[in-house]
Parts: sequence; C-alpha cells; structure tokens
Amino acid sequence: MKKVVLLTTGGTIASKRNSSGKLASGVMTGEELAAFCGLPNNINVIIDSIFQIPSKHMTFERLLALESRINTYFEQGDVDGIVVTHGTDSLEETAYFLDLTVPSDKTIVVTGSQHAVEEAGSDAFVNLRDAVFAACDESLRGAGTVVVFNERIYPAKYVKKEHASNVQGFHAFGYGHLGIIDNDEIYVYQKPCRREHYPLVSIPPRVDIIKSYLGADGVFVRAACEAGAKGIILEGAGRGQVAPKMVEAIADAARQGVAVVTQRARRKGRSTRLMIIAAVRMISCSAA
Ligand code: ASP
Repeated sequence: MKKVVLLTTGGTIASKRNSSGKLASGVMTGEELAAFCGLPNNINVIIDSIFQIPSKHMTFERLLALESRINTYFEQGDVDGIVVTHGTDSLEETAYFLDLTVPSDKTIVVTGSQHAVEEAGSDAFVNLRDAVFAACDESLRGAGTVVVFNERIYPAKYVKKEHASNVQGFHAFGYGHLGIIDNDEIYVYQKPCRREHYPLVSIPPRVDIIKSYLGADGVFVRAACEAGAKGIILEGAGRGQVAPKMVEAIADAARQGVAVVTQRARRKGRSTRLMIIAAVRMISCSAA
C-alpha cells in the first residue's frame, strides 16, 4: 500500500465557525480535517498537524520547520509522497519555497480550498482527495513540488492565485497545468525539464519589494536600506523600468552592497512574492 504524509498548516481548508458564526482560518487540526473530508482508504495516510494558522502568518522560520519535517519523512524511505494543506493566500510562496529547497525526487503536493468544509459545495473535499492521489502517483515523480487545485496540477514555480473566492483560484499563466486528476486517476501531460535547488543554510535576510509608479521617488528604497534590507525587489514597468526619481536611491543602495533585482512587468503579480524567495536564496547562498 502506498504511504502519504499529510502535513496540515491551517488556512480556509482548516477553518471552522467561531461562536459569532464567522469562519476562523486555520483552527482545525489535521485529524479533524481528515475526519471531516474522509481520505482514500487504499492509501496509508499519516497525519501530521504542524501548524494551525491563516497563511498570512507563514514566516521563513515556519517554512524552515516545514522543510525540515518533510526532509525527515522522505529520509524514512517508505514515504511515497507528501501533501501539505495550506491557506491559499500564501500557498504559492510555500509551494515555490519547497520546490527550491527540498531535494527529493518524490512529489510534494500543496493544496487548500476556497471554501470551508462546512460550506455547501466546498472544494476542500475534492482538493484534499486529489492531492493524496497525486502525491503518490509515479507519473509525477521528478516534477518537484506541485499545487493541486480544482482537479488540476500546477508547477510550483509558475502557479499564482488569481481569484480570491472562485474554486478555479489558481493558474499558471503562459505555462498551463501539468495534468489533471479525474476520478482518482492522474493524467500528466507535461513536466518541467529543469529544477533549481538551493540547500538552505539559515533564515534568509530581509528583502523588501518596492513598486515603481507614476511619480515614485526614492523614499521607500532609502527606508528599506535603513531598515537593514540586504535585497530589494523592484517591481518595475515593461521590462523593469523604474521612475526617474527612484534612480539615485537605487544606485546608493547598490553602492552599499544591497542586492537589487528588477522585476519585469510581464512577471508582475505571480512572481512578486516568489521573487522574494528567489532573491533571498541567491543572497544566502552567496553569503554562505
Ligand atoms: N485566509 C485564508 C488563508 O489562510 C484564505 C484561504 O485559505 O483560502 O490563506
């Protein structure tokens, strides 16, 4: 029998109504979530409730703890795959972080839901079930970390949350999905041909994201430097152009040794938060 570890971290998929009738994100344990949704009975699913948080409470410290727990499970040898349930608001960051840092060839599936298990027609049930099947399917081996949402499998590197409430909440613009899950069967149509891996050495240093906009000046760049940023992601326009009044502060930052990465408009949105992770990896690797 295949063995999958279900690591739960909170989010809407683990939300419950509080005493005032409002949904509180991330309060369910993994055991409660599994009991609500039911799990496939032909797969041995080990439940490990690691966090119970809304995903905006995710930090690099917690990501490191998650990564280390995943590596420990994979080192056991008999684990076929891992499912991480997560709030959707920062799901793509966690997925990409795991893709960059976990060396295993086995699949990590990150999933969540737009609706709580208590809501009619919740997507929690199908997303969780599909994720468990995808995590241990041989055809996904070597694809790195993937996101399973609304019966589709997305590469962690390109996936982005594109809708705040619709069950089709994720998309990988320009790349598409790797495959689908239909009736507990996994169909893979494409796979990444190259993976990046950065062994993690420590909590990454501070990196800030600063947007360029009409009339922007260097105020935020200088503030980031004063706050001790080791890197700045500049979200520019077009191919990364920034407003002219920002330039002097950017040049000063670079002279002080702050790594400045300009981001093309083409990659805006999807990659804003992801670029933080890529940049901090570059910085911590070059500092190591
Ligand atoms: N606020 C929730 C979160 O923890 C949203 C969700 O899970 O869909 O990200």
